[in-house]
Amino acid sequence: MKQDRKQRVVIIGAGAVGVTSAYTLLVRGTAREIVLVDLDRERLEGEAADLSHGVAFAPRTEVRAGDYDDCTDAAVVIVTAGAKQKPGESRLDLLSRNATICRSIIGEVVSRTSDAVIVVVTNPVDVLTYVAQKASGLPPSQVIGSGTVLDSARFRYFISRHCNVNPHNVHAYVIGEHGDSEVGAWSMTHIGGAAIREYCGTCGRGCPDGALDGLMDEVRQSAYHIIEHKGATYYAVSLALDRIVTSILRDENSVLTVSTLIDGAYGLSDVCLSLPAVVGANGAGRLVAPALPEDELAALHASADVLKEAIAHVEAG
Ligand code: NAD
Repeated sequence: MKQDRKQRVVIIGAGAVGVTSAYTLLVRGTAREIVLVDLDRERLEGEAADLSHGVAFAPRTEVRAGDYDDCTDAAVVIVTAGAKQKPGESRLDLLSRNATICRSIIGEVVSRTSDAVIVVVTNPVDVLTYVAQKASGLPPSQVIGSGTVLDSARFRYFISRHCNVNPHNVHAYVIGEHGDSEVGAWSMTHIGGAAIREYCGTCGRGCPDGALDGLMDEVRQSAYHIIEHKGATYYAVSLALDRIVTSILRDENSVLTVSTLIDGAYGLSDVCLSLPAVVGANGAGRLVAPALPEDELAALHASADVLKEAIAHVEAG
């Protein structure tokens, strides 16, 4: 465990997601130091100054604008830089634009440090996690994507709203791609320790059969819906990132659906996608991979196929 490193988090990309993540980490006191890096120096200086003027009201934190040299002592480097999703544009459409940016950023980071855990957020996040992992030469555990941590939170929220229970008491995971082919793992879904089907049988609200069926559609449509209304999503993803960074900095070993390079789980390999993984100081460790029913396994494989096609596109240059 790397306990001697500074609690420094470097965020590459001071756009909506990068800055909101910095704000979230600041307000929660997650990191000792937050450094923002962006091509747009003018905007970067403004954002860093605005954030730093709030430190008097937050747990002790330093926030500042910086550059790649700040990665040297970083515990975590978050990559949010890139082009953002336009209304109606699929995440995979962003692919080529962001793969080139991602490779160059990872080159800058690994020339300064081989110790930091790198968390890729830029979309399409699974493909770019693969690109980043290969470009980095680091162990797969150390280069992870935010994956479906946000989608799993949305899933838990929609289930909790439907069932009228606290989302903290809903354990539910979205697996596969962070995108259209993602899979709601109903077989892993529990409320207060009861498997969801068992819970439904006892809750007494008498929902009709199939009442839960639309919830995963809501999860899948969430980003499109928000982008349609306000152009970008950044609050919930920032809280998801705070969760991931906290688990790394505090070596929590929390189970989170980060995107990692899969090597054999569920018969899949050489693809980055999300499965519940134990996240601690060194990144993503072992996967939690319970047996899946046939339909969920088939959907997971279909999701992996979508990603493999995109990866092949990127690898072909
Ligand atoms: P944004 O356009 O507001 O910010 C992107 C920033 O990246 C800009 O400030 C830009 O100057 C900077 N940038 C571009 N190229 C750079 C480079 N080479 N080096 C340094 N900085 C560079 O976009 P946003 O709304 O912050 O979204 C960022 C990314 O996060 C997008 O790809 C978006 O789709 C993705 N996203 C992912 C999730 C998720 O759950 N994985 C959720 C929301 C958004």
